[in-house]
Amino acid sequence: MADRLRAYRVKRDLDRTPEPAGGDGGGRPAESGGRFVIQEHHASHLHWDLRLEREGALASWALPKGVPGHPDENRLAVRTEDHPLEYLSFEGEIPKGSYGAGTMHVWDRGDYECEKFRDDEVIVTLKGERVGGRYALFQTRGKNWMIHRMDPPADPTAEPMPETVAPMLAKLGPLPADDDAFGYEIKWDGVRVVAHVDAGHVTLTGRNGTDFTPRYPEVRGLGDALGSRRLILDGEVVALDGQGRPSFERLQSRMHLASPSAVKRRARDIPVTYIVFDLLWLEGHSTLALPYRERRRLLAGLELVGPAWRAPAHREGEGRALLDASKQQDLEGIVAKRLDSPYEPGRRSAAWIKVKNHAAQDVVVGGYTPGEGGRARSLGALCVGVQEDGRLKYAGKVGTGFTQHTLGTVLSELHSLEREDSPFDGRQPPRDTRFVEPRLVARVEFREWTRAGTLRAPAFKGLRDDVDPADVVRET
Ligand code: MN
Repeated sequence: MADRLRAYRVKRDLDRTPEPAGGDGGGRPAESGGRFVIQEHHASHLHWDLRLEREGALASWALPKGVPGHPDENRLAVRTEDHPLEYLSFEGEIPKGSYGAGTMHVWDRGDYECEKFRDDEVIVTLKGERVGGRYALFQTRGKNWMIHRMDPPADPTAEPMPETVAPMLAKLGPLPADDDAFGYEIKWDGVRVVAHVDAGHVTLTGRNGTDFTPRYPEVRGLGDALGSRRLILDGEVVALDGQGRPSFERLQSRMHLASPSAVKRRARDIPVTYIVFDLLWLEGHSTLALPYRERRRLLAGLELVGPAWRAPAHREGEGRALLDASKQQDLEGIVAKRLDSPYEPGRRSAAWIKVKNHAAQDVVVGGYTPGEGGRARSLGALCVGVQEDGRLKYAGKVGTGFTQHTLGTVLSELHSLEREDSPFDGRQPPRDTRFVEPRLVARVEFREWTRAGTLRAPAFKGLRDDVDPADVVRET
């Protein structure tokens, strides 16, 4: 037995770690089964350790994505060293710098029946509280193993996680008259992000399908926090200012970074927070058809509060009070969501109404005018438009709201997009406009639309790359 635990002991400093040293095991003969444990191990990468009692020790595999509940879904299993029997109940903190540093707790335990136990294939029936069923562990041609469920799905009605869900959008409007029929949320001014969380692995997707996972690395901790859960969340990535208000301008400096090292550096100065406001899929089941109120109840049950994510509660009724409060705090506005409404992916639905304190609008940049005076070698104003029946209609000039930094960013983008002719259909910007390919989307705040369809007093808030220029239409 000392031999079987040699690798275990060599890897560890048993004076430092709280893990058991292991006795001599007793050397019982091969059994037809025994006890098992699955530990959730928050090490450098979250994984689950499956351990089967066998001849006085614990045969062990690390499962990066946990135990599959469905026979179609084989998951990786990495054979690890045998562990002492005392490990069946081990929970605790393995200190930093030690082998397997991190916290470990028992995720499931029980007995198992053994059908086959060979060097390259093991077939067992697990009888735990969370996991039940017949499983095969088998070595592939490489040195890795896979774990496969041999029984029918644990949850026969479970469906595979959808790869994408297009976010539902809101219509602009006044406060609804039937106040009690609505829930209200702050309108978070940032970037819309749908998060897939799959047993510790997080993927962040923007409105136009862009993978934002590398861009907001601090949100990945959400996977660790949710453990073995599998779900899809909807929310907004925001950068908060000193007063805790979301600032689209602040978020700008996190939006156009090329390298992971630049992202890492900037994340220290300007961290982001993922504000979660909806739950779209949970443990094998779509929640889209559930009423908003019920989706919200399930979301609250997840207790999402972390260093870079949270799910602020909505309010039912009293929209006026929340709108007033949002105005006092100089926030963009609120969103009213019909309590009995389902989630409509990709649709701009009347069940969601954004009620704004000040007008804001996404616009397509179609050109710019050269600067004068202090901005002589820079840009004077952006010439912007919105789509109307598939054509870009000129909507005015945006000449304020820039910082030295945004001027530089915008100008370098514009230079690479210059073209001879105007992208605008119909009414044209001033004669000295330099035209560009209509690929950049800017966010502006403004006072109102004039009768001619021009933005009055628009101010630049930033460029956004999560919205397709073809989708930019007038919101009012
Ligand atoms: Mn482990």
